[in-house]
Amino acid sequence: MDARLEAVYEEALKRNPTQPEFQQAVREVIESLETLLLSRQDYQDAGILERIIEPERQIMFRVAWQDDNNVVRVNRGYRIQFNSTLGPYKGGLRFHPSVTLSVIKFLGFEQIFKNALTGQGLGGGKGGSDFNPHGKSDDEVMRFCQAFMMELSRHIGADVDVPAGDIGVGAREIGYLFGQYKRIANRNEAGVLTGKGVGWGGSLGRREATGYGLVMFADNMLAQRGDSIAGKTAIISGSGNVATYAIEKLHQRGGKAVSISDSGGAVYDPDGIDVELLKEIKEVRRGRVEHYAAERPNAEFRKNRKVWDIEADLALPCATQNEIDANDVRAMNANGLQLIAEGANMPLTPGAVEVAQNSRILYAPGKAANAGGVATSALEMQQNASLQGWSFDVVEDKLEAVMRNIHDTCLRTAEELDDPGNYLVGANAAGFMKVADAMIQQGVI
Ligand code: GLU
Repeated sequence: MDARLEAVYEEALKRNPTQPEFQQAVREVIESLETLLLSRQDYQDAGILERIIEPERQIMFRVAWQDDNNVVRVNRGYRIQFNSTLGPYKGGLRFHPSVTLSVIKFLGFEQIFKNALTGQGLGGGKGGSDFNPHGKSDDEVMRFCQAFMMELSRHIGADVDVPAGDIGVGAREIGYLFGQYKRIANRNEAGVLTGKGVGWGGSLGRREATGYGLVMFADNMLAQRGDSIAGKTAIISGSGNVATYAIEKLHQRGGKAVSISDSGGAVYDPDGIDVELLKEIKEVRRGRVEHYAAERPNAEFRKNRKVWDIEADLALPCATQNEIDANDVRAMNANGLQLIAEGANMPLTPGAVEVAQNSRILYAPGKAANAGGVATSALEMQQNASLQGWSFDVVEDKLEAVMRNIHDTCLRTAEELDDPGNYLVGANAAGFMKVADAMIQQGVI
């Protein structure tokens, strides 16, 4: 790395010493932007890099609530308002025991560039808690969400900061969070959250958007090689919202998804994942992938294993950060895999990205490939602001256009930076420039 960039990175390490995920995300962006950053004196003069890696505001708070036995529980809540250059802070809330300040900061940092790529006037932020919704009753989840919103409500608003879901925050949680916000604010401010129920301000197609958009993006990548999703086999990790709707869209386009996973292990289903059964088990019964396997004739549950050694054409990681390491990518490459597109945020370790970039595998980072979710959140905000409700087809057509535009922007930008076909460089550079140019226009703040 160039000495000037190294110095900025060293400073970030010093300032954030115990934040490995955040350090990883910053390093990846700086490394991939070396050519761009060194060629732009105006960015250096305006201290863009130094400013963009420092969140505008970081909120941490206590969330106290009572479980079903009236035992007092304490969790920690976070909201990182990272960058508001392009619009109100926007990004999801993650409820998972692995949540730390580092995790929320890496997610918020990625969100800045992802949101910029959508072209929709959104700043970047992220929040969440180390609360684990698994194994909690609906009442407990409701009380936790209400306590969480009691504090969060002071910091958000339709023109200020607009949270949505992420891991552990789905339709149920957004409902409880919105209800509590409405009660505190004493107004029905639909645009304060996205991912709402369709009957009360939500958008048709938002639920499906991240997974659908991911497959649309992968289809655009394959089109570059004169190919398409039809006839392709895919290995998918995760079994939540992103995985479920990626599988659905894959099947609609003639592909076949043969795996899902959760923290207990992986399922290999050679007949193709039965998406309706998966929805029933996850969304209605709140069960595990092991239960799915038990109900499918030829499916195999692989306890504590990953899905990446299964032979396939495509890999769509849709679980969580750092779920694919360098050896996984080597195994995929040896199996003739053609494409990795990230449905999760930062699922590849830096070593895995390096192996993928030096192989024949097409690789797209999450900030491009999974941007369909937040892009459709912006469509939800547009409908809320104009008191409209668009049809599913209208939303899906807009999503398709956004994903194609992001794809083409990545390729065009990579080409301009003399790194043709490099989606990582294209995504980081296009997102970064959009924010950086606007930051210069808005002055030193
Ligand atoms: N959590 C999603 C993401 O990682 C969606 C955020 C949103 O819709 O605001 O992009």
